[in-house]
Amino acid sequence: MNRPHPQAAEIDALLHAGHTNAAIASALGVGKDKAAARRTLLGLPGYYARRTDPTCRHGHPWPQHLRISPKGKQYCAACRSERKATRRRPREVDTIAVARAVAGDPPAHLPAREREAAVLRLTDLGESARMIAVRVRCTPRTVARIRARRRAGTRLVDAA
Ligand SMILES: [Zn+2]
Repeated sequence: MNRPHPQAAEIDALLHAGHTNAAIASALGVGKDKAAARRTLLGLPGYYARRTDPTCRHGHPWPQHLRISPKGKQYCAACRSERKATRRRPREVDTIAVARAVAGDPPAHLPAREREAAVLRLTDLGESARMIAVRVRCTPRTVARIRARRRAGTRLVDAA
């Protein structure tokens, strides 16, 4: 029989406290498979709560928050909406950078979304692709690509 992992006691303590294999692995600097092996040895269930449990792993009451995905996987709707709420939102378009590019004085680095906004604004003013390319400091091909993206409805930023 294999001898136990040198950090078995620490792994077991975290397992009993309800941590995931991945969390234990990163906290102790051991492999996830080591934590998984200890979990099996101890007979502890996996991280996810069972469908018949009264709550999810984070205490949201089931079954009112229990959902089954189209692929048949269970998830907690309350946990999911909490994750969504903390998700980072895309940054706002830098309107000053756009205005500078439209005026022919773009900043040294003009990000793609600001470039798109400037190109489309100049397009709407009736400027030619070549004129726009000079002002925004890109190639006429880039202007054509940005215009095509708008026609296709695949702009980087939703139209204002
Ligand atoms: Zn939950």
